[in-house]
Amino acid sequence: MPQNKIKVLDNGYVALVDCMGMDKAVIEAARRCYMSEPQGEDAAAAADAKLVRHLILKDHGTPFEHAYFRFDVKCPIFVARQWIRHRIGTYNEMSLRYCLAKRDYYTPSSLTGEALEKYKKSVNEAFDTYETLVASGIKREQARGVLPLSLYTLYYWTVNARSLMNFLKLRLDKAAQAEIREYAEALLEIFKEKMPVTAKAFEEKMKPKE
Ligand SMILES: Cc1cc2nc3c(=O)[nH]c(=O)nc-3n(C[C@H](O)[C@H](O)[C@H](O)COP(=O)(O)OP(=O)(O)OC[C@H]3O[C@@H](n4cnc5c(N)ncnc54)[C@H](O)[C@@H]3O)c2cc1C
Repeated sequence: MPQNKIKVLDNGYVALVDCMGMDKAVIEAARRCYMSEPQGEDAAAAADAKLVRHLILKDHGTPFEHAYFRFDVKCPIFVARQWIRHRIGTYNEMSLRYCLAKRDYYTPSSLTGEALEKYKKSVNEAFDTYETLVASGIKREQARGVLPLSLYTLYYWTVNARSLMNFLKLRLDKAAQAEIREYAEALLEIFKEKMPVTAKAFEEKMKPKE
């Protein structure tokens, strides 16, 4: 399990592995457009924040592409399917052609009583079948066909700040499924810590108008 991970759902997580550029790269890139310099040190922080707010407000997106994050993600396969629809980013996922699936699956906390029993029974029967097939010599890449969507998968996701904000805008929204929203909340926490100026401007823009 990586350090600095944020736990998500019953057994998933998001962890920041690496990052580059952050607010500084955005501000440098934007200032190159205008060949501008902040006037004196005291004014610099306020001028930078104002500039970033302007970029966010006007959808001047490319300066945010100079800031990069690499996340380590563990999530259920059905969350990963929604996640990888975000094409502007790079993914490397564990392969069940080569790796043996572990009995590691998501159970929604909303399930109780008989529904919970049925869910667990069905998922465990699927794992029983998978393990029997693999033990009998069937290739992992074919045996995996019986595995449930609740199975946890692992991947690295490298994404620039512009694409991350697009992800957050769509996946923090209440229209998004609750499970991927939990991952978006964890990503937002990291984004706020690492890019405080950009994250503040982003959150201001996202705030519902009164
Ligand atoms: C609540 C919700 C429900 C959804 N339901 C469904 C569903 O039922 N079925 C389904 O198939 N998908 C569904 N999606 C997925 C959705 O259609 C997008 O594929 C997903 O949100 C990724 O968004 P994106 O294209 O903006 O991101 P990215 O792929 O990361 O793209 C980022 C931006 O780059 C630009 N871009 C990228 N590729 C192109 C391109 N080929 N042409 C032009 N511009 C491009 C666009 O401006 C895009 O916004 C749903 C998403 C949400 C949030």
